[in-house]
Amino acid sequence: MTEPRCRVPTRIAILGATGSIGRSTLDVAARHPERFEVFALTAHSQIAELAQLCAVHRPRYAVVADAGQAGALAAELAATGTSTRVLAGEPGLLEVATMPEIDCVMAAIVGAAGLRPTLSAAQAGKKLLLANKEALVMAGPIFMAAVRANGVTLLPIDSEHNAIFQCLPAGGTSHIERVGVRRILLTGSGGPFRTRRLADLAAVTPDEACAHPNWTMGRKISVDSATMMNKALEIVEAHWLFDAAPERIEVVVHPQSVVHSMVEYEDGSVIAQLGNPDMRTPIAQALAYPERIAAGVQPLDLAALGALTFERPDFERFRALALAYDVLRAGGTTPAVFNAANEVAVAAFLGGALPFTRITALIEAVLAGVPAGPIRGLEDVLEADRAARAYAHAAVQSGMLRSA
Ligand code: NAD
Ligand code: MG
Repeated sequence: MTEPRCRVPTRIAILGATGSIGRSTLDVAARHPERFEVFALTAHSQIAELAQLCAVHRPRYAVVADAGQAGALAAELAATGTSTRVLAGEPGLLEVATMPEIDCVMAAIVGAAGLRPTLSAAQAGKKLLLANKEALVMAGPIFMAAVRANGVTLLPIDSEHNAIFQCLPAGGTSHIERVGVRRILLTGSGGPFRTRRLADLAAVTPDEACAHPNWTMGRKISVDSATMMNKALEIVEAHWLFDAAPERIEVVVHPQSVVHSMVEYEDGSVIAQLGNPDMRTPIAQALAYPERIAAGVQPLDLAALGALTFERPDFERFRALALAYDVLRAGGTTPAVFNAANEVAVAAFLGGALPFTRITALIEAVLAGVPAGPIRGLEDVLEADRAARAYAHAAVQSGMLRSA
């Protein structure tokens, strides 16, 4: 007799449930109530949204990361007769990321705030669905060591990395060279400004930058897509997930976002994963892995699309892409500095304190100004993150980067 591998239904915790990925995860899970039990939901401070999700999905726990809002959430839940237990702050996030009753954690908090809960889920050996790429970029070696040490089933949610995972031999997320991979071809749409006149970019507004041509996403990742910093973070992400040397990771611009990425083998074969740009596909692939389930995604109509096109990336327009390779080669805490600088720059741009065209300039200034070092433990990563944020905030406040 063998023990069943997974509890049925699988109990899931969704970190960042009110976000774009969180809601898509709930959408897929709700299509399969016999397979998935929504056990815990978390949000930063969107109390009304979280309460509404609790009323629909009836999780055992709800966590509000902004601890000061816990009372308000409890009151909202009581008003709707929802018996969900409220937890608060980072301790609450860590509790649901690691509790024995939970089998699977969707890590969909945006940014560095997701690092500790995501890492804790790995350390607790949970099946881990990773959307929070920033956590992996910041702490790659620590994170992957935790995955290996605890036998974690790690499934990438980022559409590109999920595609690569699907194009690799079954179950393979590491040592691509051993399975005959020559290159990983990471596709990117080029975002909303791929063909915009460079002279016009200084004046673009946050709403224009967030209007992605193919994907509906949170505002931070939308701005990252417009600068192609998103692709830069994804280069670092691919390096850690697939143990891929920087020279084996190539970016291909593909404006239709239908080919989600490709893997090229030594024999010349190129295997691609295609689909409509809808995050419910990678989410469903990961939730049900190794099985397949319906995701509510429209079938791909290739004849209606007509043509798929591919271009080389413009490293002048999208400086972040070139920086990603430098950052990877520098190693240590450099990727954490890179990520933190970007988070501050994007927030400054969204808040009207930095022109779009200065986002990458700010990141470069922070990389030049903040010394990086080796990663001996998580504290080194967190210290690099703090130092980079302090430097970036000072640069924004000095106004030195205000003009385009
Ligand atoms: P979003 O902004 O829509 O949602 C973010 C979620 O994180 C929300 O639930 C929010 O409450 C929570 N959150 C924000 N700050 C927090 C904090 N300080 N503490 C705790 N919780 C906090 O973001 P999103 O677009 O869903 O992206 C989530 C993650 O998934 C990001 O890392 C992003 O890069 C990645 N990702 C998203 C997409 C997409 O299509 N949206 C695709 C690939 C990868
Ligand atoms: Mg992506």
